[in-house]
Amino acid sequence: MSSPRVVIAGGGMVGVSLALALERQVPSMDITLVEAFPLVPPDPGFEASYTPSFDARSTALSYGSCLLYEGWNLWPAVGSRAQPIDTIHVSERGRFGSTLMKASEYRWPALGFVVENAWLGNRLLQALLAGRVTTVSPAKVESAETGGDRLRLQLDNGDRLEADLLVVADGAGSALRDSLGIGRREHRYDQQAIIANIAHRRPHQGRAFERFTPRGPLAMLPLAAAGSDARHRSALVWTLPPDTAAELLAAGEQDFLAHLQAEFGYRLGRLETVGERHSYPLALVESEEQVRSGVVVMGNAAHALHPVAGQGFNLALRDVARLADGLAEAVPRGHSPGELEVLLAYREAQAADQAQTTAFSDRLPELFMRPGMALPLLRDLGLFTLDLAPGLKREFVRRTAGISASTEYRDVHP
Ligand SMILES: Cc1cc2nc3c(=O)[nH]c(=O)nc-3n(C[C@H](O)[C@H](O)[C@H](O)COP(=O)(O)OP(=O)(O)OC[C@H]3O[C@@H](n4cnc5c(N)ncnc54)[C@H](O)[C@@H]3O)c2cc1C
Repeated sequence: MSSPRVVIAGGGMVGVSLALALERQVPSMDITLVEAFPLVPPDPGFEASYTPSFDARSTALSYGSCLLYEGWNLWPAVGSRAQPIDTIHVSERGRFGSTLMKASEYRWPALGFVVENAWLGNRLLQALLAGRVTTVSPAKVESAETGGDRLRLQLDNGDRLEADLLVVADGAGSALRDSLGIGRREHRYDQQAIIANIAHRRPHQGRAFERFTPRGPLAMLPLAAAGSDARHRSALVWTLPPDTAAELLAAGEQDFLAHLQAEFGYRLGRLETVGERHSYPLALVESEEQVRSGVVVMGNAAHALHPVAGQGFNLALRDVARLADGLAEAVPRGHSPGELEVLLAYREAQAADQAQTTAFSDRLPELFMRPGMALPLLRDLGLFTLDLAPGLKREFVRRTAGISASTEYRDVHP
C-alpha cells in the first residue's frame, strides 16, 4: 500500500511551515509542496529566492510562534537573526497617555520576535530543501477532481498528481479555492499598508511602537543588526487611506521621512533613511469553508487579516501546529489524512482561536478610523487601564504574544 500523501499548494510562509511540521511529526507521510515561484536553494548568506510571501516585509512573530518553531527544531536557524521585542509602546497621536507592555512583567524572554520575511524564507527553504519533502516549482495546482480513493490534481505544467489530502495555501486571492467552488467573504478596509525599513539615529532597545493616528495605525518594529550594517533600523507598517498612501509612495525620500517624523515623533531620534517602499491593499478575506473531504484551506486562503495587530501569520501557524498534531495522531492509526472526521476535528479545535483573533484584528483598525472614538475604545480593550486592570492587560498581551487562553502551546519549552 502506498504512503498517505499530502500535496500542499502554495510554498509561502504557511505552506512551507506546514511541510516542515508534517515532515517532523508524521514520518510515514509522503509530502509534496507545489509553489508557483521557483524554490531554488537559497544563498547560504542571506538573500532568499524571491516569492510573494518572502518579500521585503518583516513579521512580528509572537512568543507562541517561536515556541512552535522551537518544537520543530527550526528556531535555532530562524532565531539567529530575530530581534526580541522587550517592550511594546502604544500611543495615540494628539492625546496624552501611552502605555508600555514589558516582557519582564510576564517573566517571558520576549513579547515576540521580529524577523525579515526574506530571512525567514531563506532559513525555512534551506531546511525544506535539505529534507525529504518533494518540491515542484515553478508550478501551480490548477484544479482538483474528486471521485475514487484519491484526489487527482492538475498542474499548469501539464503534470498530474494524486493526493489523499490537498492543502490549499495559495494566498488570499486563492484561485484554487475558487476553482473548488469554495466561496469567500471579503471586507475591504479602504486602506493601504506602506512598508519600508527605516534607519534612525537612536537605538530601538527592543521597543516596538504601535501608534494610532486618525488616518490609521502606524507600527515601527525593531530589527536586528544586518551583517556589517551598523545602522539602527526598524520596520515600518503604516496604514493609510489609498490616496495618501499613493502620494507618500511617490514622494522623495526626504519628503517621506519628514511626513513620517511628524506622525511618529522623535522616540527613535531623527529618522535618517528609508529603504524600498511597498504597499499592500488591506482587506479581511475569509473562506466560507475550510475543510471538506480531502481538502483543507489554510493561511491567507482561509483567513487574511488586517496587519495592525500582527496576527495573521501567527494565527496561521497555530492552525498549522493543530493540523500537524491531528494528523500525527490519526495517520499512524490507519486514518487517511483526508478523512473528513480528522479535518473536522482540526477545524473545531481552531474555530474559537480563529474567530477571536479575526474579530480582534478586524475591530482595531475600524475603531481608529473614527475620530474621538479611539481613546474610549482603547479603554474598552484595556489598553489605557492596564495598570488598573491586570487581568485585561494579561489578556491583551497573551493575545498579541499568541498565547491565548484557547491555545495549549504554553507548555512547549524552548
Ligand atoms: C504589510 C503586512 C504586514 C504583516 N505583518 C504581519 C506580522 O507582523 N505578523 C503576522 O503574524 N502576520 C503579518 N502579516 C500577515 C502575513 O503576511 C500573512 O499571514 C502570510 O503572508 C500568509 O502566508 P500564506 O503562505 O498563507 O500566503 P502567501 O504569502 O500569499 O503565499 C501564497 C503562496 O502560494 C503561491 N501560489 C499561488 N497560487 C498557487 C498555486 N495555484 N499553486 C501553487 N502555489 C501557488 C504564491 O506564489 C505564494 O508563494 C502581514 C501582512 C501584511 C500585508
